[in-house]
Amino acid sequence: MRLTETGYSAAEIKKLVSTYMMETYERFDFVAETAKGMYLYDENGDKYLDFYGGVAVNSVGNSNEKVVAAVQNQVKDISHTFNYPYTIPQAILAQKICTTIGMDKIFYQNSGTEANEAMIKLARKYGTDNFGPNKFHIISAKQSFHGRTFGSLSATGQPGTANQIGYGPIVPGFSYVDFNNLDALINAYNEDTIGIMLEPIQGEGGIYPATQAYLRGVREFCDEKHILLMLDEVQTGWGRTGEIMAYMNYDIKPDIVSMAKAMGGGTPIGAICASEKVAKAFTMGSHGSTYGGSPLCCAASLAAVSEIVDRDLSSNAKNVGKYFMKKLAGLQGVKEVRGMGLMIGVEFEKPIANDIKHYGVKHHLLVTAIGKKVIRMVPPLIASEKDCDIAFEVLQEAVKQIA
Ligand SMILES: *Cc1c(COP(=O)(O)O)cnc(C)c1O
Repeated sequence: MRLTETGYSAAEIKKLVSTYMMETYERFDFVAETAKGMYLYDENGDKYLDFYGGVAVNSVGNSNEKVVAAVQNQVKDISHTFNYPYTIPQAILAQKICTTIGMDKIFYQNSGTEANEAMIKLARKYGTDNFGPNKFHIISAKQSFHGRTFGSLSATGQPGTANQIGYGPIVPGFSYVDFNNLDALINAYNEDTIGIMLEPIQGEGGIYPATQAYLRGVREFCDEKHILLMLDEVQTGWGRTGEIMAYMNYDIKPDIVSMAKAMGGGTPIGAICASEKVAKAFTMGSHGSTYGGSPLCCAASLAAVSEIVDRDLSSNAKNVGKYFMKKLAGLQGVKEVRGMGLMIGVEFEKPIANDIKHYGVKHHLLVTAIGKKVIRMVPPLIASEKDCDIAFEVLQEAVKQIA
């Protein structure tokens, strides 16, 4: 939908939002009317360089041609059925995803938080089916982020933050431990523990990659105790970190992995994959979703996932990410550059992240702020070194003006 088709001005659109919507977001102050590749465009056709990718979603580029064609093609045939009849895109996508990432089974959801709900439910069901009714305890990390519905929110190790304050009791059965500290995790284990739920790289927490020793140590500990390694790859999955899945950087495999964001190419889809042994706990009627696995989103996802694999966008993320991170380390006032592939956090000495974000929007570079000191960049995985150079120049100027 374009402004000219509606008769509204950009100012009127903003007014409608403030009048009629429950606003929980700090907006970039422009109307995004269209997008293509590495750019978003406002109603005047002015372009904004996209280094947030709809928060790690638009990995195959904005309005990717293959995804657009897949959606157009599918929507005219059949878009929704519930999971009563067999439908074609979900079957083919299931094979594509499972064989690409080396997992046995998939269950479709509609978002990241829903995928994590499914991951938590599957782990608990597996636990209680196999070890008795008390086997439901899950250990997750402090500063983690797993989503905004109650299960995922309760797995999120951020008590006392805006995510959790005011929402009454959260779901019991979770413990939070320091990230990248194997001893802390081992200490939190008890006989009721069924699994350990982690992001391979903490995203919303400020871009903190798990160390090799930690994630491999967690895998070994899970094997030793016969409990489940549950990885939240909602943000890290599908090429973002330089491998198809972030766990491939660590030479390990989870028992359950959740995914969403990039897998849909901009359409709302999420999923979990699990080993055969664990997946068996989801028996007939034990879980479900109205939209999950819809032909429309599965067709889009198949196009997006195929783009990532066929064009080897993970290698591009690895190479361009390395180039960009090296460059960013030379930025004035930087304390630390963290990340993997094109999932990059720049922590500044001073609390200037939000100012940099606003400076960026004004100068047509889109990045996001995490807390007061970190800016996060998760651009489409088609980003080139040239795109990074342009972004770097804006950031360099921003730091000069602000610091
Ligand atoms: C974004 C995100 C979620 C939540 O996904 P939604 O689609 O917003 O529900 C969960 N976990 C991680 C690691 C994320 O980055």
